[in-house]
Amino acid sequence: MKHLVTLACGIGLFLWLLPSVANSAQVPKRPNVIFIFTDDHASHAMSCYGSKINTTPNLDRIASEGMRFQNCFCTNSICGPSRAVILTGKHSHLNGFKTNDAGKDFDGAQQTFPKLLQQSGYQTAMIGKWHLGSAPTGFDYSDVLIGQGPYYNPPMLQNGKKVQRTGYTTEIITDLAVDWLDKGRDKDKPFVLMWQHKAPHREWTPGPKQFELYKNVTIPEPATLFDDYSGRGTAAHKQDMTIEKTMTRFDLKLDPPKNLNAEQLAAWHKAYDAENAEFEKAKHSGKDLVRWKYQRYIKDYLRCVAGVDEGVGRVLKYLDDNGLAENTVVIYSSDQGFYLGDHGWFDKRFMYEPSLRMPLLVRWPGVTKPGSLNTDLVQNLDFAETFLDIAGVAAPSDMQGRSIVPLLKGQTPTDWRKSIYYHYYEFFSDRGAPHDVRRHYGVRTDRYKLIHFYNEDEWELFDLQNDPDEMKSIFADTANADLVKQLQAEIVRLQKQYQVPDDRGKLKASEL
Ligand code: CA
Repeated sequence: MKHLVTLACGIGLFLWLLPSVANSAQVPKRPNVIFIFTDDHASHAMSCYGSKINTTPNLDRIASEGMRFQNCFCTNSICGPSRAVILTGKHSHLNGFKTNDAGKDFDGAQQTFPKLLQQSGYQTAMIGKWHLGSAPTGFDYSDVLIGQGPYYNPPMLQNGKKVQRTGYTTEIITDLAVDWLDKGRDKDKPFVLMWQHKAPHREWTPGPKQFELYKNVTIPEPATLFDDYSGRGTAAHKQDMTIEKTMTRFDLKLDPPKNLNAEQLAAWHKAYDAENAEFEKAKHSGKDLVRWKYQRYIKDYLRCVAGVDEGVGRVLKYLDDNGLAENTVVIYSSDQGFYLGDHGWFDKRFMYEPSLRMPLLVRWPGVTKPGSLNTDLVQNLDFAETFLDIAGVAAPSDMQGRSIVPLLKGQTPTDWRKSIYYHYYEFFSDRGAPHDVRRHYGVRTDRYKLIHFYNEDEWELFDLQNDPDEMKSIFADTANADLVKQLQAEIVRLQKQYQVPDDRGKLKASEL
């Protein structure tokens, strides 16, 4: 039977690859996929997710013409690892890329969805931020930033060859995506384009077109800006990611980026100098200083988001104008969420909601109902299998997610997951770690979240219904003993299902 299925799939594939042989009236063209992926864009900075601080009209268009996922979560809230999970459909401990730690590159020889799509006849392109150390594999065309890449004048690797580009990086990456769609691809083949921005990653440097946005307005503060972490344990107290203490002069645009040309530097000074002079004169302290930093930070972050949104509008228009909109699945997501002053923080890493959540919008004309909302628990772990499913390619059995194509059709399987597993590793107490967020794993259901900071052996339990901001752990409350047992058993079950190694990422005594 298995051979018959394989044979049938093989014949199907053969027909896809030879449209002149197949009856084109009966065999629909395989859809194209544009995966728009940003870095650190929290869904609470998107108006289609109810943002109170900005509008994103072009991203909202994807939502209104497609499906918005309310509960999409990452498995490990940090840049490179999220990308590795998406490429492989495997948790960090299996794909090998658990942290952004220097010197450990992604193993590009392993199985990834772009390779599988390429083998099935798709044309594959990767444009923008790659951030996995090793060179991209599985792409017919790649044009990527080197490492994090700067916000202006980025050197890039075009199919491995260094090219120096001048201008604002978000616009450059958008231009490259449109150019590839227009002139770079083979128009007889279906394609998957991974169009990946650096924005709105730290240091949140806006482009010249966005400098005037939000001038002379006050952005609302999050309710938890002055959190004292009293309801949580060591990890929340000991992190190094507060707006108050961690931000640098570069973050706050008190000093300009170092690689601007004369024209860019003049525009930058025009945008910031007057406000900076006022700030230096005012000598803010205490909460006033935090408030000033928050306003500077959030406005720049939102300006970066606006640059992305504008580019999304350009690409959607390109698809409309060139007859591509109907047969192209447009997906928007970001590698994790981000703290927009929530809990007094910026950055990500924690399993708390603002950084655990990922935005996910999918427009698939004729398949996904316009303006629809999905509330099932989905993860970046599901993306690889979803891309393969869209293309009609069977997913390998060692991938660990599940295709969300049935969800996109409005048909959630009855056995869809009821919990998600999370595991963050980037903490090395012997040599320091960016932002000092302790290792932890945990489980989240539709209502509860149990987190284990396992090297400290501290637990936190949150009732997301009664405490959506996760301000007070109820782990120690004896009334929750049964709930704790159930959730601990669920963690064990998930760790077994996902083949988490027995040491669970525990640091050696010498590393603590
Ligand atoms: Ca990121």
